[in-house]
Amino acid sequence: MSISKVVKDLKGRLDEKVCIITGGGSGIGFEASVLFAREGADVVVADIDLKAAEATVERIKEKTGPIHVRKHAIAMKCDVSKEAEVKKVVEDTLKEFGKLDVMFNNAGIMHAHDDDALNTDEKVWDLTMDINLKGVWFGCKYAIEAFRKRKNGGNIINIASFVGLMGSATPQLAYTASKGAVIALSRELAIIRARENIRVNALCPGPLRTPLLMNYLDTEEKKNRRLVHIPIGRFGEPIEIANAALFLASDESTYVTGVEFKVDGGLTAAYVTPEGPCTSVPPKNFKKVSEEKN
Ligand code: NAD
Repeated sequence: MSISKVVKDLKGRLDEKVCIITGGGSGIGFEASVLFAREGADVVVADIDLKAAEATVERIKEKTGPIHVRKHAIAMKCDVSKEAEVKKVVEDTLKEFGKLDVMFNNAGIMHAHDDDALNTDEKVWDLTMDINLKGVWFGCKYAIEAFRKRKNGGNIINIASFVGLMGSATPQLAYTASKGAVIALSRELAIIRARENIRVNALCPGPLRTPLLMNYLDTEEKKNRRLVHIPIGRFGEPIEIANAALFLASDESTYVTGVEFKVDGGLTAAYVTPEGPCTSVPPKNFKKVSEEKN
């Protein structure tokens, strides 16, 4: 068999799929954008930070990686809290690629002044809800419209968090409430749309070694306060969440809808965690994760 025939027959896990990834300029969104493209998807990297989205697209187009990589990736500027901008991203995706298969609503923030009920400013609450919750709703709304036009189903992955499932004495009330609401919204939409072959799942990462969290956990004491609760014994890596998103985005998960897909090192299953050193080796991200303040 000729090499060109082998190359032609190589299939990625997302071959022929068109995917939008919000917040694709950093962290989980960056890893998912590169991974999805390597698995054959056409990827729209949407981010409020257009330069970051463009850098992700550059990374996708680098000549590294498996040979089935398609090079169809584009960056779009989008603030997910603005309905018109989300609508435009979906419309422009349909213009560019003719269809949408997967909407990964990943963009989110954790505000530095998010605290408990007594001292969280209303502005912090509103901003968090606008991006983390309303942004997910807008993403679902326009993705479902696009799926319904084509009458061929579709797939939505909404990013939530373990904090939507369990309480913490280190409060971030707005963030926690927004993620709990994303889980409830995803579950309900999954049921409403199930007979249209539209799947909706909430992806619930545990605490990750990303700037978003590490900037906040800026002392060993703060880190250890969390690590003691994680059975696997380390923080997660963004690529580990991207790999879970890949499974949910692919046809390997056609019977999975309405779930809280936990990728958390055992955190939400634990009462008393084991003692001893961590023996789990973290996989490498496509991008080096900096723990320095950015
Ligand atoms: P990150 O800060 O590395 O990346 C977030 C990206 O979203 C950035 O590129 C940013 O520019 C973009 N963004 C911010 N506001 C936006 C907006 N209004 N519109 C469009 N894009 C916007 O964060 P991350 O760690 O990769 O987190 C991604 C998602 O995962 C978030 O929703 C976060 O809440 C969730 N999550 C993260 C962790 C963690 O420990 N890092 C754990 C659980 C859940």
